Amino acid sequence: MNENNGFKYSILASGSTGNSFYLETPQKKIIVDAGLSGKKIESLMSEIGRDIHDVDALLITHEHSDHIKGIGVLARKYGLDVYANEQTWSEIDSKNMVGKIADEQKHIFEMGKTITFGDLDIESFGVSHDAIAPQFYRFMKDHKSFVLLTDTGYVSDRMRGVIENADAYLMESNHEVEMLRNGPYPWSTKQRILSDRGHLSNEDGAAAAFDVLGNQTKRIFLGHLSLHNNIKELAHMTMDGYLQQHDVDTKREVHVIDTSHEHATKLYDI
Ligand SMILES: [Zn+2]
Ligand SMILES: [Zn+2]
Repeated sequence: MNENNGFKYSILASGSTGNSFYLETPQKKIIVDAGLSGKKIESLMSEIGRDIHDVDALLITHEHSDHIKGIGVLARKYGLDVYANEQTWSEIDSKNMVGKIADEQKHIFEMGKTITFGDLDIESFGVSHDAIAPQFYRFMKDHKSFVLLTDTGYVSDRMRGVIENADAYLMESNHEVEMLRNGPYPWSTKQRILSDRGHLSNEDGAAAAFDVLGNQTKRIFLGHLSLHNNIKELAHMTMDGYLQQHDVDTKREVHVIDTSHEHATKLYDI
């Protein structure tokens, strides 16, 4: 049966309008990205019965506003320690993207490194996306792990090596290619999203998830859906259908789960 080691998580919000993720272990509470207003993040946290005062660290993936909008407010209001790699910090600072954060609250999380926070190991890995040095994370405790992966144009062999056989994934399902092609965005934006440094489509996200899942994998959350170029049901059907076609039992073995851009998922046990 499910042994519970106190490792819990919730996708607070996911979508092209704003992203934030929460996880906790008995010793640490972490938020990754705060791409919504500070107020909204506070209310998302209260949806899962948690208080930002108890959070130990805030990790940043990259400097796009749908990932950092609320960082400055939360850092100043709650005195949080904030982690990002050096290039991301210099980009944020030189363009004054989040206002002033005290130097002692700013920490470096280098790409490709693992940092131990109490009983939790966090490994960062680089992705292919049009930010200065975007990185996502794998969270590990007692051989259980959660992987966050959105905002990437493709999944490289190196990334696959880092993220395989996690217990759960937040996997990008950004757009349906036909909807994007025929949709309202200017051609240059469409090209950016479709490029190697853009976002994974429903189809690409499904293939990537199938490539990395293993016998430990129980849940795949559909992440970073575009409001204009995707439909929740379509993203869900694509992932579900792809896995079933490849003999993955999505009724009993691996569950495909929606996320929302405005409400937190429940707090799941890993
Ligand atoms: Zn994003
Ligand atoms: Zn981005």
